[in-house]
Amino acid sequence: MAEHSEGLSPLATGLRGRCPRCGEGHLFSGFLTVAESCDACRLDFSFADSGDGPAVLIMFPVGTIVIAGWLITDALFGWPAVAQLAIWLPMTLILSLLMLRPFKGVMINLQYKTGARPGGELGERDDD
Ligand SMILES: [Zn+2]
Repeated sequence: MAEHSEGLSPLATGLRGRCPRCGEGHLFSGFLTVAESCDACRLDFSFADSGDGPAVLIMFPVGTIVIAGWLITDALFGWPAVAQLAIWLPMTLILSLLMLRPFKGVMINLQYKTGARPGGELGERDDD
């Protein structure tokens, strides 16, 4: 199960919402809720804290797609603003929700792979 863990790509396992160590167990217990531990290799997921990272990274592609889509359809078809809002506001929500889980999965997998941890108090060091 975990014999090939060093070769696992954080991108591949993260996009599928899988455990960063074994690539088999589920990383999430809900839509965005991180499980307590891996259901395959028992890796403790308490280290996982992606913070605002996924949301920030999603704003750029979603904002680009939505604004570009609005401008292009406006130039091509001249739809009224109400029609544009009726399309692009739900599209913003749908795209964001579709991208959140894979982005969060990749960030947690990268966090595991690189050993990144949340910062402590200023002046406090964790040299183990
Ligand atoms: Zn695992």
